[in-house]
Parts: sequence; structure tokens; C-alpha cells
Amino acid sequence: MTTHTPTELIKRYQSVQQRIQTACERAERNPQSVQLLAVSKTKPVANVTELAQQGQKAFGENYVQEALEKIAIHPELEWHFIGPIQSNKTKPIAENFAWVHSVDRLKIAQRLSAQRPENLPPLNILLEVNISNEANKAGFSEEEVLNMAEEIAQLPNLKLRGLMAIPMAETDYEKQRQPFAKMQQLLTQLQHNLPNCQLDTLSMGMSGDLQAAIEEGATMVRIGTDIFGARNYA
Ligand SMILES: *Cc1c(COP(=O)(O)O)cnc(C)c1O
Repeated sequence: MTTHTPTELIKRYQSVQQRIQTACERAERNPQSVQLLAVSKTKPVANVTELAQQGQKAFGENYVQEALEKIAIHPELEWHFIGPIQSNKTKPIAENFAWVHSVDRLKIAQRLSAQRPENLPPLNILLEVNISNEANKAGFSEEEVLNMAEEIAQLPNLKLRGLMAIPMAETDYEKQRQPFAKMQQLLTQLQHNLPNCQLDTLSMGMSGDLQAAIEEGATMVRIGTDIFGARNYA
């Protein structure tokens, strides 16, 4: 078993923060306008504790059961659900998270709204867009998302905050930029269509493409591997 010494994890974390800073400088953007979501899926809660001690507040998880265990230990942190959502899992998601990035069906949004406890603030949600039009990828098409957003924005216990995408993996920088630029245009269109919503969030950019995402307007980057090291699903 390999574990990172505390210093290694913190070094990786600081190096990701530095890359965000540099990408913002290149894009002439305020570094405060890009939030780092630390994607802790498959990683031990001790890693979360360690980053929380460094001031990291927002953590992303993909698997409900695993996430609930971490949330129970760190209820003070801001938890984001970013994985595929089965409709029989919406209740614990509605009850335990502050944000959901992966809303890809109207039915899921309706269930999250119905199941959000009244004593909690509205659940912040993002609509996932299948921006590279991949056959087996979750998400709304570009055409669908504009219509769906109007309907989803009406749901009482949700707060529609913007869009999320996981584009097809590309290593070429210019190719990475194209789908992110399309996402930025879609968000602008959505802001125009729904002027009364606080549509301020573009969740895009992972370990391999965070610079291109920031160049094209990401406000939240979701970083797992480059902070926590490679995941082991064994
Ligand atoms: C796992 C995951 C990430 C983190 O990806 P890395 O390449 O490890 O940085 C980001 N977003 C989503 C939706 C994920 O499932």
C-alpha cells in the first residue's frame, strides 16, 4: 500500500493552487474568480482532514455511500456531488450535499427538489452538458439544456447556478479549448434567457485540462489526481 506523507499531499495541493494562479494570470483573470473543488473520491478521509486544515472548504465526491461517511466526519465542509445519479439515490444526495454538478435529467432535478429538506437552503445545482456529443456520455445536448433550464429553474428547493461539462479527453491545448469555449457561450445564452437566476458557475477543467478551462471562463475546476495522486479502484 502506498500512502502520501502529509507533506506530499500538501505540496501537490499547493502546486495545483499555483497552476490555477498562473492560468488566471495568463488569461488576465482574477484568481478569486476560480474556485478549486478538491475531488476526494476513493481517497481516505484523513486526506480530506489534512486539506481542510490547509483551508480547503469544497470537496467533490462521486459515490453516495463513500461520501456519506466523509460528510459525517466533516459536516462543516461544503460537499459537492459530481458523479452519475441513479434516481433511487436522490434522497441522500438532496439531504447531505450543498451542490450537485451532474443533473442530467428533468426527473432527477424534480426528485432532488422534492426531497430537499425544508430546513436546509436550496440545493445549488448545475446542468451537465454532453458538450463533445459523445454517444455514451451523460448530459443534456446543447439544444436540450436551454429548454430544460427554464423548467428546472422553476423547481422550488433548487437554485440553478450554471453548467458543468466533462469534454472528451484531449491532450492538445487548442483542442481542449474548443468545448470549453462552447460552454462559456451556452452559459451566456442561459444568463440572457433567465435574467432572474444567479447563473454564475461554469464547472469545467480537471487535472489534464485545467489551464484551457480557465482560459475559457471556468469558475470552478474539479481536481482529483493532481492533488491526491492516482486513484486505485481495486
Ligand atoms: C473524478 C472526477 C474529476 C477529477 O478528475 P481528475 O482527472 O482526477 O482531476 C472531476 N470531475 C468529475 C466529474 C470526476 O468524476
